[in-house]
Amino acid sequence: MKRGSGKVTQGIKMSTVIGLLSVVILLSAAGVGSFVSYINGRDALATQTLQLNEYHAQELARIGTTSIANMQRSLAESASYAMSMPLTPEMTQSNLDYFRKSSGFFNSVVIIDASGILTYSSPNLGITDGRIKTPQLLQALSAKIPTISVPYIAPTGRYLVTVSEPLFSTDGVYQGILAGSIYLKEENRLGEILGTQSPKGDGSYFYVIDDSGKYIYHPDERLIGKEITDQAIQDIFSSGGVGSSSIVQSDGNRYLAGHASIDQTGWCVIFQTPYENVVQAAKLSTFETSLYMLPGIVLVLLLTLYVSHKLSMPLYTLARYIEHMANRRAPEEVPNVQDWNYETKMLKEAILLAENKTREAEAFLLKEANHDPLTGLLNRRTLEGLTNEWMQQNKKFYIVFLDIDYFKSINDTYGHQKGDEVLKKIAMILSEQVGLHGHCFRYGGEEFVILLSHDNEAEAFALAEQIRFIVELSEMPVPQKITISLGVAARDQEVTADRLFEKADHALYEAKESGRNQSVLVK
Ligand code: GH3
Ligand code: MG
Ligand code: MG
Repeated sequence: MKRGSGKVTQGIKMSTVIGLLSVVILLSAAGVGSFVSYINGRDALATQTLQLNEYHAQELARIGTTSIANMQRSLAESASYAMSMPLTPEMTQSNLDYFRKSSGFFNSVVIIDASGILTYSSPNLGITDGRIKTPQLLQALSAKIPTISVPYIAPTGRYLVTVSEPLFSTDGVYQGILAGSIYLKEENRLGEILGTQSPKGDGSYFYVIDDSGKYIYHPDERLIGKEITDQAIQDIFSSGGVGSSSIVQSDGNRYLAGHASIDQTGWCVIFQTPYENVVQAAKLSTFETSLYMLPGIVLVLLLTLYVSHKLSMPLYTLARYIEHMANRRAPEEVPNVQDWNYETKMLKEAILLAENKTREAEAFLLKEANHDPLTGLLNRRTLEGLTNEWMQQNKKFYIVFLDIDYFKSINDTYGHQKGDEVLKKIAMILSEQVGLHGHCFRYGGEEFVILLSHDNEAEAFALAEQIRFIVELSEMPVPQKITISLGVAARDQEVTADRLFEKADHALYEAKESGRNQSVLVK
């Protein structure tokens, strides 16, 4: 802006700067805070998920162990019941059907006699009296103790596991086995029991690997019966026991996996959660936290804007005041702004100080401009101003022209400095004598002028004479008497100041001519 033009300077307002700064600070603090909270939350969630998955795997292994124990127990009960009394083939068949349906553990149940002939099956497979060739069944038959087979592919093409119980007659003769099979690739009780324990809401799932390293349960049925190909899963499987680890599978995805094994079979249960799901959950939680923080951020922002407004308003008001001051349009008082902060208080005090100093300087300059430096009387310029003013006001007044007699010889005799002292002494006498009746001026050199506000001619002349008289009698800085000559003129109808001055000057001239040390009045 042009200096002092009164237009508001183009620039960014302090409240805007503080406001923007607060936005940047708050957003970056919130951003950094959210990021740190996200990283911490994600890592904590991952650790928690690993622990939970280990727990889930253990639970599933425990449920698996219990289920298999239950299967064996119910098979044993059924076997002892079958051997407890002689039964007709029909009764045996219906017992077998009843057992399969009521226990619900097995997809099929068979009785194989000691010679390896399949005598009963439920559901009826229609291959009774056939000699068993399946190695797993033959193994169970020859073992004569409760067994659980490894998963195998039966002649029917099914992938299954067989649990068997030896049959002994009441007199202790070996009669063969009662064997229940679980079809691993079809709906089966084991899968059902384990499956209901799986919380799949977060994308977690589990699978079971048998002791030979093949999947016996997997949500993706195509994998059941297949060998593990993934190195990471292979590593878990080899490590055995109970544990948890973060693994990267061959598809490139990371999983948080917990594992445990089923006692009777040595099968390994792996419960895993895609790491990406944990990341998503952590992101969602961070986002929700940020939403909670939002009202707080807005509140702090509004507060900052309010405070910055409160800070900048007094400064703006003071700046406007200084601008007015510079243009001499300022009101008397410094505006009563809220100076509750240190800088505003300082500024206000500095303005007050500057204002006082300016007024003092102004007063000093005004005095300098209006006064004669040697005598301290008003100067000729002021005389002209005041004369014109009084004439404009049509004021009745008297003018006295005053000149020191033979002053040149005073200077010549006593020196210029003594002459100056005489001038000062005369000025002092003038001031004292005129007092409130008028104003005294140094007109130039050793000439003085008095403007008397008397409207009485006699009084004016008497004062002139009194002054002359006192000068003559006064002790002077030089060892001799000093006299003065005076010309007195009245301001009546004279129109111009020049004419009035001329008249007074003429009266003075007359006083000089008439022998000095006297006053002459002109009408
Ligand atoms: P007259 O009676 O006719 O007035 O005689 P005069 O000597 O007073 O008059 P003149 O005009 O011849 O001399 C005036 C002298 O005043 C001349 C000058 O040296 C002296 N003068 C003028 N201004 C100053 C001043 O400021 N200080 C001193 N010391 N002398 C001054
Ligand atoms: Mg003179
Ligand atoms: Mg003189």
